[in-house]
Amino acid sequence: MCGIVGYIGDKDACKVIVEGLKRLEYRGYDSAGIALLREKHIDVTKTPGKVSKLEKMVSGLRPAKIGIGHTRWATHGEPNTVNAHPHTDCSGNIAIIHNGIIENHSSLKTKLTSLGHTFKSQTDTEVLAHLIEEFYSRTENLEMAVRLALKDVNGTFGIVVLSAAEPDVLVAARRGSPLLIGLGDSENLIASDASALIRHTRDVIYMHDNEIAVITRTNVSLKNLDDEAVEREAEHLTFDLEQIEKGGFAHFMLKEINEQPETVLNAFRGRLIDDEGVSKMGGLREVEEKIVNARRFVILACGTSWHAALVGKYILEQYAQIPVEVDYASEFRYRNPVLVEGDVVWAISQSGETLDTLAALREARQRGVPVYGIVNVVGSTIARETDAGVYIHAGPEIGVASTKAFTSQLAVLNLINLLVARRRKTITAEQGKEIVEEMHRLPGKIRQILDNTAQIEAIAEEFKESRNFLYLGRGVNFPVALEGALKLKEISYIHAEGYPAAEMKHGPIALIDENMPAVFIALRDSTYDKILSNIQEVRARKGNVIVIANEADGRLKELAEHIIEIPETLEILSPILSVIPLQLLSYYMAVKRGCNVDQPRNLAKSVTVE
Ligand code: GLU
Repeated sequence: MCGIVGYIGDKDACKVIVEGLKRLEYRGYDSAGIALLREKHIDVTKTPGKVSKLEKMVSGLRPAKIGIGHTRWATHGEPNTVNAHPHTDCSGNIAIIHNGIIENHSSLKTKLTSLGHTFKSQTDTEVLAHLIEEFYSRTENLEMAVRLALKDVNGTFGIVVLSAAEPDVLVAARRGSPLLIGLGDSENLIASDASALIRHTRDVIYMHDNEIAVITRTNVSLKNLDDEAVEREAEHLTFDLEQIEKGGFAHFMLKEINEQPETVLNAFRGRLIDDEGVSKMGGLREVEEKIVNARRFVILACGTSWHAALVGKYILEQYAQIPVEVDYASEFRYRNPVLVEGDVVWAISQSGETLDTLAALREARQRGVPVYGIVNVVGSTIARETDAGVYIHAGPEIGVASTKAFTSQLAVLNLINLLVARRRKTITAEQGKEIVEEMHRLPGKIRQILDNTAQIEAIAEEFKESRNFLYLGRGVNFPVALEGALKLKEISYIHAEGYPAAEMKHGPIALIDENMPAVFIALRDSTYDKILSNIQEVRARKGNVIVIANEADGRLKELAEHIIEIPETLEILSPILSVIPLQLLSYYMAVKRGCNVDQPRNLAKSVTVE
């Protein structure tokens, strides 16, 4: 999620690192910092805000030949100066930058505190600095200390570590977060993203998971975490800077759609207790009783988050047996809403800055009910102004049309459902375990959909001149129909409407003719037979039918020319899969119509006006 740059060589490390960090900044990070090593002493400078602020702070510093720098996208602890990276151990002789999440940070922190370590920040990362310090005091070898420390760690990391006692090496390691080494002439670099190093070299070695690298000015040695040597040829990068920033994808939106196997995994990471069939979320621990005993949930949101909220209503009412109201934040505020004791309000926002949602939650808090957040950006206003909450950990979302944040919101709503349903005993431990198992399978199933996009592209080609679209679904997939329609409107400027499939006959069916494509979500779930009848109604009026289906049976094949198959999963989790073809359909339609996918007209990423 964050940006990492490390340098060792004869140039001014500070300049090289700051310039590299600037290349990574387009993703909108929250703070930045740098550690420089000179004469066996490490100097750390860090600040909230932009890299340009850091640049001013370090201008005029004496040159150093080795250093590490970081742009943070907070996951644990507000974006402020102490929480910015690099983090140091107690002595200040070890500095570390980290990308990812250390899942078992609280138990490690307790253990290290009892061993006499003192912590300065609220981050998960700082435990690594102290853990390495602990092993360093026994081994006096940075590489070995890092390797031993990582054996105790659960979670994801891309790290680079610096030790004052070993001024000629950078030690890096990865599991789940990208890192690549840039090979120079009497200099070497390391970064989380190629864009940070191509000014200096295009010859790179990509690190793989569970590998550790020792980098000196003239040498790079790569091993696995079991201390066995790894041989890997360097690659020569040929693509341009813009391609690199988008990870080789044509647009940020497509990149973000393709990140969903990892982002959904990140939303679940460390939050599932497999053998008990239940979930745990650190941010809700202290308010769990209030949540479990609530009489009603009221979920406030706007846009795509509102659609996620509506999926949440279906799920929570069915499994946790708790009444749920979903409100547009902008409407809630102005209609004198009734909130009573026992109500729990949830606010969902990707950015955590959505003004309508913020104003609505302030209104709710004034009425004395607890308000919890489901937010992507750590330390954002909504995260700060709620009593507790869950981060969705989707990483920075740049495409204006939200994609990965939506599926991560759904993942978190499912975690909340699992927690409440199990605690209220409306589902059994066995049912809980079944849900958990299926949650683990979701990233692989998302990958399966993303590996088969040719058909969706062809459908987009066929329908790109359509002026209108209908999206129809039932039950938990009705909100997905709304979301599919919204995506198409947002980026392709085609008028689209989402509707509950059964409602069609009460009005919208009048619109159907041979020019009207209708996208159905018809999964083999509790509404399958009903939705087949709805498809028939459209076919009978010569409408074009596109269906998102599980493996299609004979009946469905007779009814629709275009069937996009997705893997089967539990009904409550199915929106996480069914929305993906719809995201891709709108994406390809927009591209084929020549629209600006990442910055659609009239829209802003985070809506901070009323
Ligand atoms: N989990 C770490 C933090 O919150 C690293 C975040 C990042 O990848 O930027 O500080």
